[in-house]
Amino acid sequence: MRAMSTSDGARRLRGGIDLGGTKIQAVIVDADNKPIGQARHPTPTRGGPPAVAAEIAATMTEAARAAGVATSDLIGIGVGSPGEVDPSEGTVAEARNLTDWTDPYPLAAELGRVLGTPVKLGNDVDVAVRAEFELGAGKPYQSLLGVFWGTGVGGGLILDGRQWDGRGSAGEIGHMVVKQGGRRCTCGRKGCMEAYAGRLAMELHARRLVKQGKSTKLFKIAKEHNRDRLTSGIWARAIEAKDKLAISLIDDAISALGAGVASAVNLLDVEAIVIGGGLGVRFGEPYAKRIERAMKPHLFLDDRPPAVHLAALGDLGGAIGAALLVAG
Ligand SMILES: [Zn+2]
Repeated sequence: MRAMSTSDGARRLRGGIDLGGTKIQAVIVDADNKPIGQARHPTPTRGGPPAVAAEIAATMTEAARAAGVATSDLIGIGVGSPGEVDPSEGTVAEARNLTDWTDPYPLAAELGRVLGTPVKLGNDVDVAVRAEFELGAGKPYQSLLGVFWGTGVGGGLILDGRQWDGRGSAGEIGHMVVKQGGRRCTCGRKGCMEAYAGRLAMELHARRLVKQGKSTKLFKIAKEHNRDRLTSGIWARAIEAKDKLAISLIDDAISALGAGVASAVNLLDVEAIVIGGGLGVRFGEPYAKRIERAMKPHLFLDDRPPAVHLAALGDLGGAIGAALLVAG
């Protein structure tokens, strides 16, 4: 057994933030990357980057309190963020799934000032994939593709044991074209996998269909649960309520994921696919199996498909991965 005084223990704790389009997840991990405190707040939809930064600070403070420490006791905090992340400058720009976030915003400096400890930034999907590779479902493999099915559809690649970033933005699996001239994507292009499977794109499409006279319980269920967006939980409830439109949109999503992920496998021949993200984790194993089946017709070598796993770290993977940005 390791002898460690309380203050030594506290000094080795790290914080991790997963900044998502719907929620901010904070976690405090110990030296073995085990979560010892966590908190979750909705992502503000008004007020732009300063409002989001303030909410991140509040969420991290609550997680630290749950772990019995102050944020200034942490050796550092990592933040996994969407958009264009510049780790050396500590800025985030063009975070499309967050509102009013275009110009570079000094998120690391602002959080460091409020929370009293150094803050490092990384790409949200990259940190989640690294967490699954080092600590989760990807542990047995040297090559894998992480597919994060949530507000958007993010992707991350590990090839020969190393994260593959390309020229800085590899892994944008959500914007692989699954149908030429197809449905409008949130990126402005057409026929991307995300246009069919991203939670935000699915919501926009559901609204268009309602305008065209189609009926659905989706927005009624959202209202009943005081949500102004169709969160993963709202989709899950609509499916349970056998809502035809929700079922058909989710079927479209599965079919697009099958085509897009199988195409990536045809190119890269990775050993494993790890499915995570808000929708991926919420829908769980049966839907990972459905994606696996939807891949099959598109696999060039269908007699040796890659292993398909659900993200083992679940909802906390992104935040734990962000904490890995801080050296222990
Ligand atoms: Zn797109």
